[in-house]
Amino acid sequence: MKKQFKAESKKLLDMMINSIYTNKEIFLRELISNASDALDKLYYLSLTDKDIKINKKDLEINIYLDKDNKTITIKDNGIGMNKEELEDNLGTIAKSGSELFKESNDLKKNIDIIGQFGVGFYSAFMVAKKVTVKSMSLDNMAYIWESDGADGYTIKETKKDGIGTEITLYLKDDDNDTYTDLLDETKISNLVKKYSDYVHYPIKMKMDDEVKTLNSMIPIWKKSKSSVKDSEYNDFYTDKFYDYEAPLKVIRSEVEGKCSYTALLFIPSHAPFNYYSKEYEKGLFLYSKGVMIMEKCADIIPDYFSFVKGLVDSEDISLNISRETLQENYQIELIAKNIESKIKKELESMLQNERETYEKFYDNFGMQLKYGIYTSYGMKKDVLKDLLLFKSSKEKKYVTFKEYIDNLKDNQDKIYYACGETIDKIDMLPQVEAVKDKGYEILYLTDNVDEFVLKIMMNYDDKTFVNVCDDDLDLDTKEEKEVLEKENEKNKDMFAKMNEILAGVSSVKYTNRLKNHPVCLTTKGELSAQMEKTLNAIPNSPSVKAEVVMEINVDHPIAKKLEKLYKKDKKEFEDMTKILYAEARLVEGLEIDNPTEITNLICDFLAK
Ligand code: ADP
Repeated sequence: MKKQFKAESKKLLDMMINSIYTNKEIFLRELISNASDALDKLYYLSLTDKDIKINKKDLEINIYLDKDNKTITIKDNGIGMNKEELEDNLGTIAKSGSELFKESNDLKKNIDIIGQFGVGFYSAFMVAKKVTVKSMSLDNMAYIWESDGADGYTIKETKKDGIGTEITLYLKDDDNDTYTDLLDETKISNLVKKYSDYVHYPIKMKMDDEVKTLNSMIPIWKKSKSSVKDSEYNDFYTDKFYDYEAPLKVIRSEVEGKCSYTALLFIPSHAPFNYYSKEYEKGLFLYSKGVMIMEKCADIIPDYFSFVKGLVDSEDISLNISRETLQENYQIELIAKNIESKIKKELESMLQNERETYEKFYDNFGMQLKYGIYTSYGMKKDVLKDLLLFKSSKEKKYVTFKEYIDNLKDNQDKIYYACGETIDKIDMLPQVEAVKDKGYEILYLTDNVDEFVLKIMMNYDDKTFVNVCDDDLDLDTKEEKEVLEKENEKNKDMFAKMNEILAGVSSVKYTNRLKNHPVCLTTKGELSAQMEKTLNAIPNSPSVKAEVVMEINVDHPIAKKLEKLYKKDKKEFEDMTKILYAEARLVEGLEIDNPTEITNLICDFLAK
């Protein structure tokens, strides 16, 4: 009986068959890569299971071309699949990918998503009208899976000599596209060289009546640095890590010593679509003498560099290391430490020498670096602080803390920053205008995590971070302070009254920090208004309250008006107080609780 593919699988399959991928030839490397994994798995198992007797030398991949029947067969003597595995592995496409797929009908986006999950086995249908998979697993039972793509698949018992998998592609008929050219030995041989040269099992094919090994079997990371072209690294990366874009940076590292290893690392040029979600799993491939022993070794890479993809190959790591023993493994610890400092150095040098590239990197992954400082409670601040960038008010460009410090005004001992959703909105804050007018540079903090990071860091190079919306910004001269203090003292009853009217603020006072604006909000203590907003947006978290101060521009005509109303007209004084507070909240980008009341009050004033 024919079984149907799961609905999303079918949708994906249709797209595949109609070849959204212009590059049809990738099917070969996908199938070879699966075969190589199957050989790895069998070999790895044989190390721990004495009942499995294999000779590593016998493990190989064979390609057969049948010109008469127009078929290509790729055969391996790897781990094979039993009936359930055939069903599970080949009945559903890109399991987790297809879930996401349901949500979007955007073709371009979907292609990117499939790309990131790997098209794998199904790429066979780009060139084949029918595919059969004959497989025998360790239980010595053989089954054949057969499908022509569109109508589902069948699985039947069959005969096969020896465990492993044999995939036969019945090539499509030539139409606008040609498929029969894939039956040409030279063509196939070139494709293997191009995409699968590093596979460390022989890929054999009969050529000119002689069986030849097509690949050099030297992994790309074992070849001498100078002999590998950039494009080869790029191809290796896009193939192995299912990316559609070449990496931003390739990092190679060879270390000899207590633990010798080779690492080939990549910084992607864009964040994977699931990067900032729980689904994303960090980790590097772990190889021992060229044999892959783990696909996602997480312990080898710190969270704040989780965007790095790549592999580590070490002779000093035992082949039968397990996830459980990994954490106490001394070699792994050593490698992890080295890798962390290698990545850090590379990023620093990119920042120094390739600013544009670094900024591109930062746009994609800067958030992760910031989280690194925040989630480590500042413990990682020394590793990461010089990798951070913030846009600054000077040129609206990214600056490092170091660059900010190099630009300090005489006697400036603070690093000023302001928070908001966007740079434009921050620029509109009255407090920002005042600080800029005094000639200070301001860092714009536009991500929710930003201010938390600076609070945890506390300072950089002895310079404290200060929010321009802090209530004691302390930018005035002694004389200015005295004048202001006097005014505040004189009107303290009025401010007490205003405070009574406004439940949301902890105090009201005059300020001389504002130039044109009548009023602004500042905060006292650790929690700023933006932090309050961020923390309260977290579901199921206890609500927090910033200590808000309403500051009124002492030089603004509204100040005198207030004083007059306070003495004369209680009702109007109260209304004006409410309007001013609402105004201050709006300017700050905060919501107001009573918009109807406020708009009515404004109308009353307008009607007067
Ligand atoms: P991926 O390789 O990304 O997991 P594929 O669609 O290529 O996705 O393959 C799905 C699964 O089918 C593989 O994970 C593997 O378990 C199994 N598989 C594919 N080809 C082989 C093979 N030649 N031998 C054994 N298992 C295989």
